Amino acid sequence: MAKLQEKAAPILRVAVDVPLYRLFDYEIPETIAAERLKPGLRLSVPFGRVQKTGYLVSLEERSEVSGVRLKPIAGVLDREPLLSPGDLRLLHWAARYYHHPLGEVFASAFPSGLRQGRAAVLGRPARYVLTAQGREFEPGLLQRAPRQKLLLEAFRQCPDGLSEAELAASVDNWRPALKQLAAKALLQLDDAEIAFAVAESPPVKGNPVVCNPEQTAAVAEVCAGLDRFGVFLLEGVTGSGKTEVYMQIIGKVLERGLQVLVLLPEITLTPQLENRFRQRFAVEIEVSHSKLTDAQRQHAWLSMQQGSGAILLGTRSALFTPLPRLGLIILDEEHDASFKQQESFRFSARDVAIVRAKLANVPALLGSATPSLESLYNAQAGRYRLLRLPNRAGNAAAPAVRLLDIRNKPLQEGISEPLLAEIRQTLEKGEQVLLFLNRRGFAPRLICHDCGWVARCTHCDANLVIHFREQKLRCHHCDAEQPLVKSCLSCTGSTLRPLGLGTERVEQILPGLFPDKAVVRLDRDTTQRKGSLENYLKQINEGRADIILGTQMLAKGHHFPNVTLVAILDTDSGLYSIDFHAAERLAQMIVQVIGRAGRADKPGSVILQTRHPGHPLLTTLIREGYNGFARQALAERKAAALPPFSHQALFRVQAGDPFKPKAFLEAVKNLAAAGQTGGTLVLGPVAAPMAKRAGSYRYQLLLQDANRQALQRLLDRLLPEIDKIKKEKNLRWSLDVDPVDL
Ligand code: ADP
Ligand code: ZN
Ligand code: ZN
Repeated sequence: MAKLQEKAAPILRVAVDVPLYRLFDYEIPETIAAERLKPGLRLSVPFGRVQKTGYLVSLEERSEVSGVRLKPIAGVLDREPLLSPGDLRLLHWAARYYHHPLGEVFASAFPSGLRQGRAAVLGRPARYVLTAQGREFEPGLLQRAPRQKLLLEAFRQCPDGLSEAELAASVDNWRPALKQLAAKALLQLDDAEIAFAVAESPPVKGNPVVCNPEQTAAVAEVCAGLDRFGVFLLEGVTGSGKTEVYMQIIGKVLERGLQVLVLLPEITLTPQLENRFRQRFAVEIEVSHSKLTDAQRQHAWLSMQQGSGAILLGTRSALFTPLPRLGLIILDEEHDASFKQQESFRFSARDVAIVRAKLANVPALLGSATPSLESLYNAQAGRYRLLRLPNRAGNAAAPAVRLLDIRNKPLQEGISEPLLAEIRQTLEKGEQVLLFLNRRGFAPRLICHDCGWVARCTHCDANLVIHFREQKLRCHHCDAEQPLVKSCLSCTGSTLRPLGLGTERVEQILPGLFPDKAVVRLDRDTTQRKGSLENYLKQINEGRADIILGTQMLAKGHHFPNVTLVAILDTDSGLYSIDFHAAERLAQMIVQVIGRAGRADKPGSVILQTRHPGHPLLTTLIREGYNGFARQALAERKAAALPPFSHQALFRVQAGDPFKPKAFLEAVKNLAAAGQTGGTLVLGPVAAPMAKRAGSYRYQLLLQDANRQALQRLLDRLLPEIDKIKKEKNLRWSLDVDPVDL
């Protein structure tokens, strides 16, 4: 008689948020029924001496680790997985493609509260209402407590009660008064359930503008493909009506009862778009980016995950938000480098968004005035559908652009005589001028006129930047700062000179040149305080600014309808970079800055000050526009077998010791060479462009292959072996697949 084989309980394979390329096995405690354990569940697991949040990857029959007694998990945090099987597939794909630890990839999909194991409940903001007694109470009796009286009167006018946010908006320092009223039993917390507003009305409200023929064609093409995967590249100059096209298509997706994910590169652009969306759509719109509180982001995440949110507007980090009824993904300003995460899990939100659309079988729409060379190449190859909006919407004419040769011309803090004259003329007409200089601070260098000493950062291979108003020298790479010295640290001489130009320096001379004209400077230093950027933008749009001076912050998306003259003071920085991406970035930046001018009925003009008026990048850009530049740049990339004609992966290593990083990469290179069957190029190791930064010495090793799969196979083989290389404790390495800067 066969003995009944006792079936062993399954074990749990768990991804934990640690930078290790492995998963961890746990037992199921008796108190938990194995049937309810599904992949994607958040678990609480013992890890070393602490408890951590883990993510259930799979149930396995036996553990791969032998001879160790497995620990049981401490608990299950969700009744049902918050992530769908499709979400899990995407995370697994991303971890594999970017060769990043699965636990960290999982963690990046959750807002921080959920990552820390908090309950996944859609909290609603606290609301207060008057009690029966409170409704009867005569506010006049509170004469001696004016704030309580004020509060009570506010409640009288709002029978539905007031939320904390509404209270904060109407009465200063409301909380103590509220407590006192509650103690007198005049008001209480409203605990009535708020039912989700079910959208009975159509999702699109208001009267949309009438599309021009190009917009109509673009909308029709995308809408014809709403029921399946496809990538559309919407190329349209600034002001050509791309956002209008997005909104028309979003309307159609909402009418089908589906959700839309809209990704933007910059936090600063979200309020503008959010406003336009709120005016157009009568649905729940959620916003997610890093400037919001954890609670706000968690709210957005859960409301999308539970399906009540219809539109999610967010930056890169919103990409992995679960969307059970996903119908469309839009990525605006798709060329923008900030879609690539530059630390830890180095994913490209653009590329992962396309994979997500493919897994969900929905269309992805990429938009830009200056599409990335990768996307243009994909369009040429027929993988993406190219949609063009060649003209500005409405009546706005394209600005006239010209190169201004400043060789041998006298400059006043970077401004030449001819430019000065143009600025004066524009201001006399009561129109606005925009001056672009991509360097903040007063001057990028402090030099001794006697001995040539230059103030350097002791932690980086970089000069210290002068911040004159604050009397500081500051490193823009590690944020180290010191007081502005008055005498040379080398020869003690006192003839120290600022060299080069920053926005602060230009700002200083403008009042002298243009008395009684208002100047607004927009850069990271002037917009650090919360709300300051919004204030400046308001000031500009209300016409309370004549000259707008700023860094690349200006190049991105903002509408300045009364600006009719745009000047780039120093076009040349970036013309001669060692990184092949630099030319593309520069061309995009120039075109984006140009796009700020003359958007309304006033024609604009653009002046590019340069010492290289014959440089092919500039002449092609002026003569043939961005498309001409892109054609030429792609031809150059092809000749050099650079991306998108090949694929790259970059190992970066840093350590406090100057020699260890190179030795480590030599070992990686040897591992790559051993057993190499394909033709993957292994270039380096070489010192990083900034060989020392924040006290660490840095090296890199580049892998390149025309065949993406071959490169991936090599990385698959390499990574487990790299983990075994003996290394210094403080040596840190990372892998960047599809790097956007070298
Ligand atoms: P983009 O996103 O390409 O910069 P927008 O969609 O913001 O362009 O459009 C630029 C401006 O033109 C906006 O003020 C918008 O309301 C307006 N606009 C867009 N499409 C049309 C149209 N078909 N007719 C008139 N005005 C339009
Ligand atoms: Zn000196
Ligand atoms: Zn530094």
